[in-house]
Amino acid sequence: MTSTNALRKKDDQKMSVSTLFDPKTVAVLGASASLDKFGGRVLHNLGRNGFTGRIVPINRGRDEVQGYQAVSNIGEVDGPVDVAILAVPADAAVDAVAECAAASVSHCIIIGTGFGEIGGAGIARQRRIDAALAGSRTRLLGPNCLGLINQHARLALSSSVSLAVGEFPIAGDVGFISQSGAHMVSVFDSARALGIALSAAVSVGNQADLEICDFLEHMISDASTRVICIYAEGFVDAQRFLLAAEACHEAGKPLFLVKVGRTGAGAAAAQSHTASLAGSYAVTAAACRERGVVMADDPITMIRAASAVARWGPPRSAGLAICSGSGGSISIAVDRVVGAGLRLAELSDRTCDELEKHVVSGHASNPVDLGFRRESDPVLAAAPIMSTLCADTDVGMIMLMLGSTPGLPEMTSALASAILATRAIPLVTVDSGEVADGARNVLDQLGCPHLDDVGHAVSLAAVLAAAGAAPDLVTYNEVPVLTDADLKVLARITDRLPSGKVTEAETKAVLAAGGVPTNLGVLARDEQGAIAAAETVGYPVVLKVSSADIVHKSDVGGVRLSLRSPHEVVAALRQMQCTFGDSSSVLVQKMIEAAPLEMIVGCRVDPQFGPIVLVGAGGTLAELFDDVQIALAPVGPREARQMLERLRVWPVLSGAHRNEPLDVDAVVDVMERLGVIVANASDGFVDLEINPLLVRERGAGVVAVDARATTRDRS
Ligand code: ADP
Ligand code: MG
Repeated sequence: MTSTNALRKKDDQKMSVSTLFDPKTVAVLGASASLDKFGGRVLHNLGRNGFTGRIVPINRGRDEVQGYQAVSNIGEVDGPVDVAILAVPADAAVDAVAECAAASVSHCIIIGTGFGEIGGAGIARQRRIDAALAGSRTRLLGPNCLGLINQHARLALSSSVSLAVGEFPIAGDVGFISQSGAHMVSVFDSARALGIALSAAVSVGNQADLEICDFLEHMISDASTRVICIYAEGFVDAQRFLLAAEACHEAGKPLFLVKVGRTGAGAAAAQSHTASLAGSYAVTAAACRERGVVMADDPITMIRAASAVARWGPPRSAGLAICSGSGGSISIAVDRVVGAGLRLAELSDRTCDELEKHVVSGHASNPVDLGFRRESDPVLAAAPIMSTLCADTDVGMIMLMLGSTPGLPEMTSALASAILATRAIPLVTVDSGEVADGARNVLDQLGCPHLDDVGHAVSLAAVLAAAGAAPDLVTYNEVPVLTDADLKVLARITDRLPSGKVTEAETKAVLAAGGVPTNLGVLARDEQGAIAAAETVGYPVVLKVSSADIVHKSDVGGVRLSLRSPHEVVAALRQMQCTFGDSSSVLVQKMIEAAPLEMIVGCRVDPQFGPIVLVGAGGTLAELFDDVQIALAPVGPREARQMLERLRVWPVLSGAHRNEPLDVDAVVDVMERLGVIVANASDGFVDLEINPLLVRERGAGVVAVDARATTRDRS
């Protein structure tokens, strides 16, 4: 957040964004008669879609533009101006904003580009706009956005060509907030084509002033929006987003999010596994899960899901029923559904008995192949089969695949009507050929959404299933694992750490102070020292090179395990000093007996979401198998346990993998402690990682045998 932005947040003299959605007077600066110019398109779009407020073009050279009476200066408009759209070149924007602020305009919208997004001169220009607004009541949407559409007010504050063609769509209850202008208008256009009724769509662009959360908060309190969708590249203020997400949950308004950047992680892999595993997308996903925000991969799937939830509510069960006249389509769908981690509905005995009346014996189960119907007329057979299937309480969603069969429109009508009479959410696919046009028309008339591909249906089902999973808002009930006195000791140790990379010995000192079981070890530089250290910790011992710069010690021969005598210790030391230099120091530590499982437990301070805790199966394996769970820190015992239960390695921990159950409580305790350590020193650490944590059988505890950390640069 820029400092001006922060200041402005406190300034309650600023106009409320609701005026932006329901303006009485809109001025267009740079209004033009030509639709080839964006100042011309803005005015045209405003006028052609049924907006009933006053429209005032501002044009120095003309009294009239596109039939509206113009004035030459924003200050000359009589009465208050709620919104001024600045369709002026970037160079002229700063002065225009200043004039609007002087004229007490409530909101400016800067649609053009040439600001923060281009760097250099653009950033400077955006700062000048910030300065022009400071101290005024005027708020700014953009720059570098495509404005705003309020379907309830038939208001199009945008230069987009999609508002210059076609009918203005009817208003609904799905709100859409987009960081990208292009995505805002393309979703608007697609929604219109798909028959999805939006309440409002807004693009925030560079978020110089008004940002995603201003609109999210508006839509939470605005009765015309019941479900909210967001497309975001990043958050200006992640903490504000989390609070708003909680408010959504309280208001009973489902919140969907598409966040880009899923694949950008990995870069810091060489530094720490925690950093590469807990990239910003993974952290966003974890934070969203904790707050009941449903993530989708693309905006169209998101608005389809949102619209289904607005209409039917979240699916009453994650169970999916599959039905088609084509056995091949059914087989493909089953593979895709199960492959996506979704669940086929388990039909009750009653449903199966009822189905047996309509399909031949042995086929009364999910999926249902209409080819096995008893009734020879497919249209007569359709409705009872579908009604029976969809009445089952485990059928939350019904995937119906329609191909080119004779009498398709009639059969479609019977099947779709039967679905729409139940609570099951329809996921209907229709082959894209001409033969199926009739089916599409029938579905459109019935108001039954449809898709053209099983892949899209499966993606949609996945988002809906996530929306249906009762969001279990995580509340951290602080059962202090560390006392205030412990925290003071910890702070003293942490404060003394060097900036940047921290050695194993130093990191383990932090862990020990935080109550994490670890084998501390003793540092040594020469043979006598090493032998004495080995005596102190007790044989067998481990020798490790001690250097903050060597991140993966064993890769470079910096770890020697199972040394059983002074002779072996000396030999290992000599070899290490040969490799790393005569004066390198070594950490001599107790050799811990092999344990059934090695895990990684880490914490990190995410630049946006703050401290997080991460847990996964041992070391590099975690990265290879992507088997990690992340949560915002601190984590309570229940949440920590749920994270472990979601790991693929859970059967090994729980003892379901033909092994003794392991010490889950001890792992949970370490996760809690790391969470508290990082949350209390979030300005001190970049990350801290135990890798591996040796996990023994239940009751036998855990030991952190390796650890490393990075502290923030304090110089
Ligand atoms: P690296 O920097 O390569 O990660 P580690 O200290 O983790 O070095 O050592 C590599 C491996 O050696 C560990 O994953 C663990 O299996 C084993 N190891 C390290 N220290 C000990 C120890 N004190 N007792 C038993 N095994 C150990
Ligand atoms: Mg290690």
